[in-house]
Amino acid sequence: MRWPRDLLLDLLQTCLRVLPWPTEPRLIRVGHPGREAPLLLTGNYDLTVRRVVRALRGQDAYLLVAPTRGINVWCSAAGGLLTAHQVISILRTSGISELVDHRRLILPQLSATGVERKLVEQRTGWHVVFGPVYARDLPAYLAEGRKTEAMRQVRFPLLERLEMALAWAFPVSVVGGLVLAIGWRHLLLPFLAMVWAVTFALYLFFPWLPGPVERASRPPPGWTRYLVFFDPTMRRNLIVWLVWVLGLWGYAYGSGTWNLKSLIGWSLASLFVVLLLSMDLAGSTPLYKSGLHEDRLLHIELNQEACRGRAMCWEVCPKNCYVIDTARHKAVIAEPDACVQCGACVVQCPEDALAFVTPAGQRLAPEMIRTYKLNLLGRRAASISQ
Ligand code: SF4
Ligand code: SF4
Repeated sequence: MRWPRDLLLDLLQTCLRVLPWPTEPRLIRVGHPGREAPLLLTGNYDLTVRRVVRALRGQDAYLLVAPTRGINVWCSAAGGLLTAHQVISILRTSGISELVDHRRLILPQLSATGVERKLVEQRTGWHVVFGPVYARDLPAYLAEGRKTEAMRQVRFPLLERLEMALAWAFPVSVVGGLVLAIGWRHLLLPFLAMVWAVTFALYLFFPWLPGPVERASRPPPGWTRYLVFFDPTMRRNLIVWLVWVLGLWGYAYGSGTWNLKSLIGWSLASLFVVLLLSMDLAGSTPLYKSGLHEDRLLHIELNQEACRGRAMCWEVCPKNCYVIDTARHKAVIAEPDACVQCGACVVQCPEDALAFVTPAGQRLAPEMIRTYKLNLLGRRAASISQ
């Protein structure tokens, strides 16, 4: 029986989700694929590969696992680890050209941030399409042969929020727990209870915390941008801390067990945990750009003259920001505020009609985004906040 092992591995990999977990880049046969079987691709993050294979159960298909250093598709694409080069390399070395008669490759939609479709097509002769965002939609996508609007959009449902809570609560508990185990063992259990309660509260109540993430006109200066008090994208998380503190003090008052000194101590400790988690709470969701990242201040600009209405932007945008005016053959940015600055539309637009613009009005050339992605590794020379 494989499922108990799979379940345990899922749990372990979710707990350690902040770390890479590579599996061997290779070609996987799902079912009994023939010469017309669909060909899909994903990155070599083990949890993703196993989930894609599970989603494809009952299908006959080929799955290419590209080398992304054990990082998931969206992060590796945004960080420059899943690019056209990785796709071309696995296409050429896997021997897949000998196994199928067609030349149609289905990439995960979230790889559009890093993989320039045009380049793969020019260099290999394979036709590239972007499939659905989520692996669970693959059977319906393969059956229908097209994506629905829901298949193109990232969401942050309860199950995913619980996974992210686990992914943060576990490492914080391990690191903090090891420190306390050295000489403060009596604090260990209350510490673990606090970390898990605060972390799960932050993610469970995330959709109901008031106000959208604001886009500040300019980032807070220097290191203060990392502090919850100065960053409007994070300030609302203090509400969770206040609720926690009120609950703690209420419990202490009702049970009569805790003294003032320990209450103040635990309130401050929980504030530290909230600050720690809040530093990248927005970035650990698929809904918002990281609060740590200055690229969240960019906005998309569309050159209507250059646009030919080819709809690549519409096909790859994970926030459904675009509609296509079919009468005029032009794209329209219908939901500019939903943009998470992923860059997929800029990278894929065949006419270079889209570009990021900084708050100061500076236009970042599409080629710069294709080369340096979203500057996660700090390689792009121009800093947008200078
Ligand atoms: S991908 Fe570019 S050319 Fe095509 S519709 Fe979008 S903006 Fe216009
Ligand atoms: S509009 Fe924003 S969210 Fe949509 S693809 Fe472009 S950069 Fe990404």
